[in-house]
Amino acid sequence: MSGVKPSLMPVEQALEALLKLAENAPIQDVESVLIDEAEGRVLAEPLVATLDLPPWPNSAMDGYAVRQQDLNGEPLRVSQKIFAGTQPEPLEPGSCARIFTGAPMPENADSVEMQEHVEVLGDGRVRFLEAVRLEQHVRPQGGEARQGDEVLAAGVRLGPIELGLAASLGVPRLTVSRKIKVALLSTGDELVDPGATLNPGQIYNSNRVLLRHWLQRLGCEVIDAGIVPDDLNKVRACLTGLGEADLILSTGGVSVGEADFLGQVLREEGELNLWKLAIKPGKPLTYGSYRGVAVIGLPGNPASTLVTFGLLARAYLLRRMGVSEVEPLSAQVPAGFSWTKAGNRREYLRARLEGGRAVLYYNQSSSILRSAAWADGLVELPEHTCLEEGDPVRFIPFSELLG
Ligand code: AMP
Ligand code: MG
Repeated sequence: MSGVKPSLMPVEQALEALLKLAENAPIQDVESVLIDEAEGRVLAEPLVATLDLPPWPNSAMDGYAVRQQDLNGEPLRVSQKIFAGTQPEPLEPGSCARIFTGAPMPENADSVEMQEHVEVLGDGRVRFLEAVRLEQHVRPQGGEARQGDEVLAAGVRLGPIELGLAASLGVPRLTVSRKIKVALLSTGDELVDPGATLNPGQIYNSNRVLLRHWLQRLGCEVIDAGIVPDDLNKVRACLTGLGEADLILSTGGVSVGEADFLGQVLREEGELNLWKLAIKPGKPLTYGSYRGVAVIGLPGNPASTLVTFGLLARAYLLRRMGVSEVEPLSAQVPAGFSWTKAGNRREYLRARLEGGRAVLYYNQSSSILRSAAWADGLVELPEHTCLEEGDPVRFIPFSELLG
C-alpha cells in the first residue's frame, strides 16, 4: 500500500492538537457541590486529608487486644469489652480486652489475637494458642492517610469510589469545575426526530440522541439545538443563538463534496480548520470557532460520529473540564479474525470479546449503529497492517469511552 498521504492527519496528531486547544481554553469557574451530587464531576482542587485515617488505632478482627509483655504463656483475664463506636479504658496490666472489628485499641495494648486462635477457659480467662506478633491485626492511626496528605489530585473525575473516599474523610462538599456547556446540533435536510412521520427520503436522527446521552454521561450540560437544515442562513441563525456555549458540537455536513454550510459560516465569521484524518470510520473533521465559541464538526454517519466523538471529542471535552487522565484504558487481546486489506487509515472496528478474542461484527459500514450495539468495544487496526487470527490487537471497551 502507499504511505499515508500528506493530507491525512494521523489520529494521535489530531488528538494532540485537540488536547492542546482544550488546554488553552480550560473551564475555570468552579463550584462547591455536596458529595451526594458530585458524581461525574471533576475535582478542581486537590482533596487534602484534614484528619488521620483511621483517626485512632483499631482492631482489624474480632478477638482480644493484648500487650506483648503480658503474654507469658499463662491465660489472661478479660478486663473489658470494647465495641466499635465506644471509647475504651486503658488496658489493665496483666489482662486482655475483648475487642471487635473497628473498635478502638485500648491504651497500652499493642496487638490483637483473632478469636479463632484463643481458648476461653471455664473461668472466663483466655489462653492464647499461638504466638502473637507485635501489632498484628491492628490498623494503625493514619495507616490509610495522614492529616495533610493529598488524597485525590485536582483533575480527578469523581465516581463512586472517589466520593466514598471523600466521605471517609468526613468531607461534605467538594470543589469542582463547572459543567462544560455543549450545544449539540444535527445538520441534514433528511433528518427527523423520533416521533415524527418519516416522509420519503428522510431518516431518523440518531446522532442527537446518541451524543446527548453520551455528553451527559461525561458530565456536560447539553444545550440541544436540534436539527438544522442544510441551508446557509439557517446554520448561521442557529450558531448565532449559541453564544452561551463553551463548545458547539455538530454532526453531518462535513463530507467531501457536500455543500459545507457550517464551514462557510465559520470561514466568514470565525475560524475554520478542516482536517482529513487517517481514521476509519471518520476522516473529515471540522475544528474551528464561531464568534469566540469553539466548534467541532463530526461526520454524520452514526458509526463515524461514534468513533470520532469517542476517540477525539470526548478527550477534548474532558481536558477542557480539567481532567488529567483522558486516555481510555485498553487491552491487547488476540484477534478472532484475520485482516487482509491493509489500509492507509487507522481502522476502528466494532468488536466483541468471545472467549478472550476479539470478533468483528459482520458489517462494519459507517452508516450502521447496530454494529456498535452488538459490540463491546472497538478494535484498533493500525495503518498498513494485515493480521492473522491470534495476532494481538488493541481493544478499547465502550465502557471506557462512554464514561
Ligand atoms: P453527512 O456527514 O452530512 O454527509 O452525512 C453522512 C451520512 O450520515 C448520510 O447518510 C446522512 O444521512 C447520515 N447522517 C447525518 N447526520 C445524521 C444523524 N444525525 N443521524 C443519522 N444519520 C445521519
Ligand atoms: Mg448531511
